[in-house]
Amino acid sequence: MQIVNPQIRKEMQDASWIRRMFDAGLELKQRVGADKVFDFSLGNPDVPPPPAAAQALRALADRVGEPLGLGYCPNAGLPSVRAALARRISAEQQVAIEARHVVLTCGAAGGLVTLFRAVLEPGDEVLCSTPYFVEYGGYVGHFGGVLRTVPSREPDFALDVPALEAAIGPRTRAVVVNSPNNPAGAVYGAATLASLGAALARKNAGRERPVFLVSDEPYRALAYDGVVVPPVLPISPFAVAVGSFSKSLSLAGERVGYLAVGPSMPDGALLVDALTMTTRTLGFVNAPVLGQRLVEALAGESVDVGVYDRRRHAMAAALRRAGIEFSMPKGAFYFFPKAPGGDDQRFVNLLLEENVLAVPGRGFGFPGHFRLAFCVDERVIERSAPAFERAAAKAR
Ligand code: PLP
Repeated sequence: MQIVNPQIRKEMQDASWIRRMFDAGLELKQRVGADKVFDFSLGNPDVPPPPAAAQALRALADRVGEPLGLGYCPNAGLPSVRAALARRISAEQQVAIEARHVVLTCGAAGGLVTLFRAVLEPGDEVLCSTPYFVEYGGYVGHFGGVLRTVPSREPDFALDVPALEAAIGPRTRAVVVNSPNNPAGAVYGAATLASLGAALARKNAGRERPVFLVSDEPYRALAYDGVVVPPVLPISPFAVAVGSFSKSLSLAGERVGYLAVGPSMPDGALLVDALTMTTRTLGFVNAPVLGQRLVEALAGESVDVGVYDRRRHAMAAALRRAGIEFSMPKGAFYFFPKAPGGDDQRFVNLLLEENVLAVPGRGFGFPGHFRLAFCVDERVIERSAPAFERAAAKAR
């Protein structure tokens, strides 16, 4: 008997490594007690939202009685929220974005699905660089698309632009870039992005169905050492930015994100109309209104990135002590070090024996490394150092 669509069945069997480690972690926590487990498996932002969020929520509570206070809202989002976001995105992207270029979505995840629904046809290919956020495969596959990957360049996981250009074929419909990157922590520099823009211009010349540049950037606000994440919308007329407030405001459960279509995109208004329709017909209908109003009230605010930065240094110290090689993340909240001994799955199992939860690099299409999410207290990171040392010693 077939209950579930075979494609989804396959995706379930290939089950995300993050989920597998999550399950292994639950079992371990039951067995040894949650306080004895060092859980670096999940990127669930734990730094509190800015203090103004509580006050804003209280003020919103007083408005629920207003007509349509919690009702459906325009599919593309509340007009005032689109306008507020347009101002912010214009500053970040250094192009003149107006409210009409912005569609509110259910997180960056909902934004990506909404966009792929609007532009993909069965058999279309979407390219991305590895290591990558594995959910892309599902997002693309829902609409008959196929995800193709190109390895990034070690040691700092830089985009391999010539390899990406060479991989663009007649069925390529989009190139997805994710900077700051999950899981590598890489931030792509302006020069790299400019060369990607030039490559896309060459490929898009005379092309009937253009290759979109999709900038998946939910971590834009989390960058360290004064690094400013360069804008992406100016580098191609076919660029679309996908962002969210899951990390910058720690509102991941509220599901508020956006799509911003570059102002010079040919037929950009048509694409925005299409996105407004697909967000509705995919069943999102509109991004949560409370979340939208909260984001509007918190305009200009951000979580305390210093907390993540201190953890980043604590994690770097623990890894150095264990002699584990890594490239210092420039953004997001992940390390993607080399697995001592070379086998990522084996090393993650050795870590598990030490009550440390990590995710093997093969779960991100990049074996030989492993991912650590530093969404945990700094003291927990410090206490985990001996466990890393023991696991690394066993692996060698
Ligand atoms: N893209 C990347 C690279 C992510 O890491 C995540 C979440 O972890 C998402 C998209 C989805 O984030 P959101 O909560 O904004 O949907």
